[in-house]
Amino acid sequence: PATLPPACHDILRRTFGYPAFRGQQEAVIGRVMAGQHTLALMPTGAGKSLCYQIPALARPGTAIVISPLIALMHDQIRSATAAGIRAASMTSADSDNAATAAAFRAGELDLLYVAPERASTPGFQSLLERAQVSLFAIDEAHCVSEWGHDFRPDYRMLRPVLDRFPAVPRLALTATADRTTRADILRQLGIPDEGLIVAGFDRPNIRYAINPRDNGTRQITELVQRMDGAGIVYAPSRKQAEDLAAAITRSGREAGFYHAGLEPERRARVQAEFVASESMVMVATIAFGMGIDKPDVRFVVHAGLPKSIEAYYQETGRAGRDGDPSEAHMFWGASDFARARQWLGEVEPERLPAENARLNALAALVEAPTCRRAILLRHFGEHPAPRCGNCDNCLEPPDVLDASELARKLLSAVYRTGQSFGIGHVEKVLTGQSDERIESRGHDKLSVFGIVGSGEAALLRPLTRTLVARGMLSATEHGGLMLGPEARAVLKGEAAVAIAEPPVRQRRQRRTRGG
Ligand code: ADP
Ligand code: ZN
Repeated sequence: PATLPPACHDILRRTFGYPAFRGQQEAVIGRVMAGQHTLALMPTGAGKSLCYQIPALARPGTAIVISPLIALMHDQIRSATAAGIRAASMTSADSDNAATAAAFRAGELDLLYVAPERASTPGFQSLLERAQVSLFAIDEAHCVSEWGHDFRPDYRMLRPVLDRFPAVPRLALTATADRTTRADILRQLGIPDEGLIVAGFDRPNIRYAINPRDNGTRQITELVQRMDGAGIVYAPSRKQAEDLAAAITRSGREAGFYHAGLEPERRARVQAEFVASESMVMVATIAFGMGIDKPDVRFVVHAGLPKSIEAYYQETGRAGRDGDPSEAHMFWGASDFARARQWLGEVEPERLPAENARLNALAALVEAPTCRRAILLRHFGEHPAPRCGNCDNCLEPPDVLDASELARKLLSAVYRTGQSFGIGHVEKVLTGQSDERIESRGHDKLSVFGIVGSGEAALLRPLTRTLVARGMLSATEHGGLMLGPEARAVLKGEAAVAIAEPPVRQRRQRRTRGG
């Protein structure tokens, strides 16, 4: 990576008071200083803001920061101003937009925050032409991708604006993007492939545990009893947040609740109470946690299935920012998946493949008998060790079944049918159920037709999820399956595949019914 101009180190020390850069900050800032378009993928807490704040101070002109949330912008401006940086925003919530525009034109701002819908207006574009822009920072850049978990059409309007200033470096930032989303962000924002900088996603001090739910309230109150320190419990609804908080309080632990239905003053009060407390349990909907700065959260509990692996990673990532040992627990029910699948029936058709892939990845995570951390990190494109030693499955390996032979059959069937069909079709081929489509393609003539007996048929879907989770199968954009980079080792008999014993699965499903 390019060496940073000395001014950047001076700014780090003098303005921010930090002795050294962390992780990939230096690499990101180096590219921006050299005028190169960049996508920085860094986990929450890694210090993304500094990556554009330092170039904003070191380069002539004003940095335009595009950010989707007014509340987050105002937080950022408050802390930037406290550090002596000249920062302002132009939003519907600001009354002094004309004065801000004048200050921008006069070169009196280091940072100017705007929402994407304003950034793409003709008025703002002509303002940009009359001022000097040092860089474009596009925060929460996954919003530009339909593959991301938070697609915002306004982000799609940014490209023409950026293209009018080809010499101004673009810095896209996000904490959450799987491989597909990443590639899409690069393409949508016109950033070259070599502009992607990924910081390590591992949070080694967080211990992950995922369990099926039977009596969620009892499981959670018991768990919380054993935990020291402050923690967050994410509940799927406002009502459940209130009920769980009451149950935890009854069990003798200090608890509060937080959701978007509370009066703003009350929300601010419970949030401040939680930040100050060393023992409070905050039961909340996912509205809670964004932008709160509490490094000593000792545990995060999910009372139901999170929305995606990205959301799970981000929400559990609020534990242990101080680096001390922390725990992340999830209780999921088959009913959570049923509800999510039902909801899939309502999404627009073009979003369906992405939503399906998201749900399958979650299923793979919760059902896997193997290391949770390895699954998470692989999801984010890393190549972790197969076992971390600090998750439930590493610490107490579940009963597993060697499904290597079945995996070979499944992978062969995916390969021989042309790597474009979904599991439904492949399952029929393997179990020898013919239909029109199978006959018309000649798949009933393949050597893999009917090679899986009825006893093993029920293992095919959980096995598929495991294979996807381990990179042995990949889901195509159209919902088909193709061999993944790790398939070769299985086909050559060099890698074993284990899945949880079926009796365990059945018991789990029976226990979770209605949960
Ligand atoms: P992100 O946006 O990636 O979640 P932030 O930009 O909010 O992270 O930074 C997280 C915290 O880390 C902030 O308190 C920030 O001041 C601090 N921080 C950032 N860079 C450094 C550094 N080089 N050294 C020490 N602390 C840092
Ligand atoms: Zn592990």
